[in-house]
Amino acid sequence: MIKIGIRYGKIDFFKNKREIVLLKSFPCIYGKCSFCNYIEDNSKDEHLINKINFETLQNITGEFGILEVINSGSVFELPHDTLQKIKDIAIEKNIGIIYFEIYYGYMNRIDEIKKKFGNIEIRFKMGIETFDNDFRVNTLNKNFKLDKDAIRTLNDKIFSVCLMVCVKGQTKEMIDNDIKIAMENFKVTTINVFINNGTPIERDPYLYEWFINKYSYLKSDTKIEILLDNKDLTVYEQ
Ligand code: SF4
Repeated sequence: MIKIGIRYGKIDFFKNKREIVLLKSFPCIYGKCSFCNYIEDNSKDEHLINKINFETLQNITGEFGILEVINSGSVFELPHDTLQKIKDIAIEKNIGIIYFEIYYGYMNRIDEIKKKFGNIEIRFKMGIETFDNDFRVNTLNKNFKLDKDAIRTLNDKIFSVCLMVCVKGQTKEMIDNDIKIAMENFKVTTINVFINNGTPIERDPYLYEWFINKYSYLKSDTKIEILLDNKDLTVYEQ
């Protein structure tokens, strides 16, 4: 099958301008979220992973001083050589801030990455999808629960969370509550509006209409990034 994709892009349409790369990585350590099709990009071939990643990283100019790295998993699933290359390029191009993705199960290891990158500020993004534990665990099949203490700990360690909205089974109240908690607790929140992607999870068109009418104004909020399409971050594999 021919794969079409773009692995390098510039996010210059949000307040927080940055370059972004979609890197290839080893399989996501969890890999069971019911809505996730991005793990199809994962590979066990370290040579291939590094080859594709090195080619992608060559595009980085450093023009915004900020780089976001996504990899259909967590930063810990990037090979050592790829991480080293990211660091070398960041130093060479004067990049002072790097965003990485992290899964909840790696929370106790985030200092390893901070240490590895020295003076470069590392900001972690985490897909928590919703603060409704029942929906996260039983519908989205994401296997962690968050109480108030856990949210406080996340607030200390994580820069940004990602929410998923407009999924069948969600309610307006759940989405209102998720956005409220995220905005009260995190510096930046990404809101992913779910698009059908071949997994058993489906978009709720009624919730979508309601969400657009109610929350489009958040597009001008510097603490919120709304993604209406899974290509909105400019990089994608399909
Ligand atoms: S943790 Fe992230 S990459 Fe892994 S299966 Fe879940 S959504 Fe996909």
